[in-house]
Amino acid sequence: MDQDPQQVLRDIVGQVRAHLALQQELGLEHTDLHWPEHASSAPAAHPTLEQVREELGDCTRCKLHAHRTQIVFGVGNPHASLVFVGEAPGADEDAQGEPFVGRAGQLLTKIIEAMGLHRQDVYICNIIKCRPPNNRTPETEEIVACQPFLLQQLRVIGPKFICALGGPAAQTLLQTKEPISRLRGRFHDFHGIPLLPTFHPAFLLRNPNEKKTVWEDMKLLLRHMQQT
Ligand code: URA
Repeated sequence: MDQDPQQVLRDIVGQVRAHLALQQELGLEHTDLHWPEHASSAPAAHPTLEQVREELGDCTRCKLHAHRTQIVFGVGNPHASLVFVGEAPGADEDAQGEPFVGRAGQLLTKIIEAMGLHRQDVYICNIIKCRPPNNRTPETEEIVACQPFLLQQLRVIGPKFICALGGPAAQTLLQTKEPISRLRGRFHDFHGIPLLPTFHPAFLLRNPNEKKTVWEDMKLLLRHMQQT
């Protein structure tokens, strides 16, 4: 089926903006890109997570604000060595204001505990902070609007490892379109931080046979964490 040329163009523009935003956010390059609501009140050079949250404010940078109950910023240890990054809040997360508290979240909690850790030891967030209608996949514009805040969260926490849960999280952080089936199971470089993509817990609920694959990924992650 032919793709809508306007959608193709919007996707390309979105990807270019995301790339420029990433470069700028990481201080790698000066670009003319600026975020209208963001540029006027740039955060401190070494902000805290609270300051990043404050900067996000009662965000209306993308259309998702219209339907959300609340922003789901992130939860856990602000000095965590390990950060899990998922896709987007679902209904339970939107209601409770905390990431990964629904069925997929309970499975993630079990995975974390099977690793010998607790939820409070790690930090958990998503690539976007508002629930998309009917839990649809986040759109490029929504990811781009949220990206500076995700990057600031990661920069402030400064984890030793990142685990990306599912395709959208891995593809956003690694700026690639490779499918999660090809990305998972090996470390990638995220600006000096080893990033391990694995399947999303919601995928595991639908495909329980893949739980063992994720467990292999978590064992790989643990081995590397124990070496540092
Ligand atoms: N799925 C996600 O990707 N994130 C959540 O917070 C909940 C479910």
